[in-house]
Amino acid sequence: MKIFKCNSCNYGSVSSKYTCPECRTGKLEEKEVSPKGTVFSFTDIHIAPAEFAGIAPYTIALIQLDEADVKVTARMDSPVQIGDNVDLEKVENGAYLYTKI
Ligand SMILES: [Zn+2]
Repeated sequence: MKIFKCNSCNYGSVSSKYTCPECRTGKLEEKEVSPKGTVFSFTDIHIAPAEFAGIAPYTIALIQLDEADVKVTARMDSPVQIGDNVDLEKVENGAYLYTKI
């Protein structure tokens, strides 16, 4: 998956920005890394917004990528625990859908 790393500090993100929001001087450079990671934290969503009502309850997890100091917010296809190994299943309407491995 594509991430953006600052060329002057350690900041990284999955979304592109013109300049680094952390040090404000660096430029973000595109980098390709494995989408595999571990669950850093998660929230079970029981009352979903209308567009997701059909799939509730579901889990939103913050995933720490293995290959970069970047965290990704993703919807899980099954319940998870902190520390679970996960991988990208697909990208749906710009949202990441992850699965346990
Ligand atoms: Zn920076």
